Amino acid sequence: MRKISIIVPCYNEEAALPLFYPVAKEVLEKLPDDYEIILVNDGSRDKTLEIMKDLAEKDPHVFYISFSRNFGKEAAMYAGFVNAHGDYVAVMDADLQDPPALLPEMIKILDSGEYDSVATRRENRTGEPPIRSWFAHKFYQIINKISDADVVDGARDFRLMRREMVDAIVEMSEYNRFSKGIFGWVGFKTYWLPYENVERVAGESKWNFWKLFKYAIDGIINFSLVPLTLSSWMGIFMTGVSFIMLLVVIIRKLLRGDPVAGWASLICVIIFIGGLIMLSLGVMGQYLAKVYMESKHRPHYISKESNIPDIKKID
Ligand code: UDP
Ligand code: MG
Repeated sequence: MRKISIIVPCYNEEAALPLFYPVAKEVLEKLPDDYEIILVNDGSRDKTLEIMKDLAEKDPHVFYISFSRNFGKEAAMYAGFVNAHGDYVAVMDADLQDPPALLPEMIKILDSGEYDSVATRRENRTGEPPIRSWFAHKFYQIINKISDADVVDGARDFRLMRREMVDAIVEMSEYNRFSKGIFGWVGFKTYWLPYENVERVAGESKWNFWKLFKYAIDGIINFSLVPLTLSSWMGIFMTGVSFIMLLVVIIRKLLRGDPVAGWASLICVIIFIGGLIMLSLGVMGQYLAKVYMESKHRPHYISKESNIPDIKKID
């Protein structure tokens, strides 16, 4: 019998999880397939783990993995992918922003055989501050222009994938994970399913503006070398400009005998170039930091407890 795995990363979801479970359960029970719900507790500081254990005790379809601390949603999703047994695997938020009701349709699309994955895309961003939406749109424009992973504007992490694709994702064991890019990078044929944005049922979003900004920068650094190239070009450009300025100074000295005019502008130029140098060093530092973190080969997450009998250790 075919099996469907649902991975649900949870961080402080004591309010949302009890609302999520019955909704997802109802949808899954109606399917002819076998299924498992893998709840990943990402170091919650509330009652999330107790709720998970309680659900797992009552329902043999429910499994949980509990991290030793908060490792982030990317790590939680990875833990799910590593341990999912399903032929079709889905990731879904615990706050019902990813409607489980879409699952039957997504399964049908995969069943038709033409696609390897069904991803969802929000058509609107209701309930979001306009400035945040603006930055989000810009981010998608930039990352698509300068990287080889194509990331669809409004794409959610909510998607259903075939086993082959999940295996490919598990194989991408990089420490700095940016799933929106990874999903695109591994290839396979994806069907995009648009849906109306829904607001979270309970609890609060774990993202603030700075976290999102950092996430965006991370995404770009992880999937593009353009910032590095750009800083080299900037260096070449500035060298050219300074050469022209030198010529101007020499010619003026020869024609008018006045080489020292304008040292206020000199200070501006020095500061400007100093700024560019620091910016380029910063860009290099960002890449170096990634190399450094990757080279440590730290585990993506540390699982403290779980009821998955064959839980896989990753390295
Ligand atoms: N999440 C997680 N670890 C974190 C942050 C979030 O596992 O460090 C989970 C969270 O519990 C939720 C999903 O990731 O199920 C999406 O988080 P959230 O709803 O806060 O993000 P938003 O929908 O606002 O983008
Ligand atoms: Mg949410």
